[in-house]
Amino acid sequence: MTKSKLIILAWLLLLIPTLLLGLGALRLLQSEAARLASSNQATARDRALAIAGNIDLAVSEVKDGLQETLRSLPQQNLAEQLDTWKRSNPLVRNAFIWEQGRGLIFPDPEQPASDEEALFIRRYLTLFADQSGWDSTHTEETPAPAAEVNSVLAGRKELRQLAQRAPVAAEPSAEALQSSGKASAPAPAKATPAPAGQSGWRSWYADDQLHLLGWFSPDGGKQRYGLEIEMMALVSRLLGNLPADPPAGEAFQLLDGSDQIVHQTGQFESIAAEQPLASAAIGSLPHWLVNVYRKTATGGSGGVIMIGSLLIGTFCIAILLGGSLLLWQAWRYQRDAQQKTSFVANISHELKTPLTTIRMYAEMLGEGTISTPEKRQRYLQTIVRESQRLTRLVGNVLDFSRLEQGRKDYAVEAIDLAQWLPQLLATQQVRLGEAGIQLQLEIGPIEKTLESDRDALEQIVLNLIDNTIKYAADGGLLQIRLEAVADGIQLSCCDHGPGIPSAHQERIFNKFHRVDTSLTSRQQGSGLGLSIARQLARDLGGELSYQRVAEGACFILTLPLRRPA
Ligand code: ADP
Repeated sequence: MTKSKLIILAWLLLLIPTLLLGLGALRLLQSEAARLASSNQATARDRALAIAGNIDLAVSEVKDGLQETLRSLPQQNLAEQLDTWKRSNPLVRNAFIWEQGRGLIFPDPEQPASDEEALFIRRYLTLFADQSGWDSTHTEETPAPAAEVNSVLAGRKELRQLAQRAPVAAEPSAEALQSSGKASAPAPAKATPAPAGQSGWRSWYADDQLHLLGWFSPDGGKQRYGLEIEMMALVSRLLGNLPADPPAGEAFQLLDGSDQIVHQTGQFESIAAEQPLASAAIGSLPHWLVNVYRKTATGGSGGVIMIGSLLIGTFCIAILLGGSLLLWQAWRYQRDAQQKTSFVANISHELKTPLTTIRMYAEMLGEGTISTPEKRQRYLQTIVRESQRLTRLVGNVLDFSRLEQGRKDYAVEAIDLAQWLPQLLATQQVRLGEAGIQLQLEIGPIEKTLESDRDALEQIVLNLIDNTIKYAADGGLLQIRLEAVADGIQLSCCDHGPGIPSAHQERIFNKFHRVDTSLTSRQQGSGLGLSIARQLARDLGGELSYQRVAEGACFILTLPLRRPA
């Protein structure tokens, strides 16, 4: 398997489990959010139920108290008694006496004492005309405490219908008690001829308002007298049942039958919910509701999912980034290891060649078999040249390790440029000539001296010449030009060889990098020459770069006149 395929496989092995993990976590999050939402709803429902139950209880207590007073009223001067009671008790809005066959006796339907009395008479016209039943059982009243509770999903209408169907439990009439013998038995659908001591409550809707009418009949229904509750006074006694100062994010509402808010507590702006989380019907106040609004800490299940998704996304990206970084590191270590192995092989080979030549020529000279002095001279020159090559090679390797560790020392001195470069190139003439390369040197108008490290400069130039000999001998020409540029000098080394493919033009300055061509494979090399040359140029305050030319390779060395400290 190729290296790139291995990397793709490793990446897939990282990507797929990460994605699966992310998806799994998201699913878990969704179900957790749903669970949270439903538990939140259940809590709100319990709360609504409890409040509705308490309100129910309070209403029943008020009703019981009023009924008790009603029963205890003496029969003499009943109208007067009732009138006094009405005036003294804020819970009594209106009082009445009704007789079978005669209808309303008090207040006088012909001469009502006040507008309020006139309205009262008109409001219960059908009731006093005995056209509708006196009990709410079969009509509207639903006194079961906290009759039904529904989630916000159930419509208000539906909720109220449910409340209407709730059984009677809190307000059994006397006839109900007598007919069934059980305190909690529902009242009969239709009032039968009732024994003495009957009582009951009638809820009555008029002008979109709920009214509660309580009555007592001492004689089995022939005479009925009673009261109408002052709803405002009743409501003021119920308000304490809504939590007075609920925590932030919670709010409560008491709604009447026309959806008017009777009372509310808690901060509604912070909830921004259009629908209550839960509602409960109040059995003893038909059509009235308790609504509970609640904001979850994270802004609802949507908020939980959003925050969770963000966390999961960050987590997955972190895994992928971390994994990719590890893969990249592993790939780099592998590449470095490969480069080092090939470096060792290359350098050994490079060292071995001049050593073999030196030994061979030295042996021949030692044996004394060389006949002519010219031949001997040539052999000696070869030995010197090869040992110089060996010196350059070892110098490169030593420099490389020093540069890598940042331990390279530079000795700055004044260099006479016009003298230094021709002298250096003169020592290379033989090498170049043997390789069939003609050297052209051009020196433009330049400053006389350069303050830099002579050995480092020579090493840069010699590395460039080495490469021309190795890779561009076919071009047969090496043009070296020295000229002045802003703040320094520029030395260009251009040959007429094959040049460097554009993909490698920057990478040839990386350590161990060699262009993979047949030419390179024929030539020995460690891939260090240009990397060392560039590092030296930079350490001297300059730069070594490759310049694109039509034919061959061109290296440009720029240096400041003085090496920065
Ligand atoms: P080495 O010569 O030891 O391989 P270098 O760092 O000196 O290492 O060179 C890096 C690579 O750049 C060489 O392997 C060669 O492929 C390419 N190269 C350098 N100089 C030339 C040149 N003048 N012409 C063509 N290719 C060159």
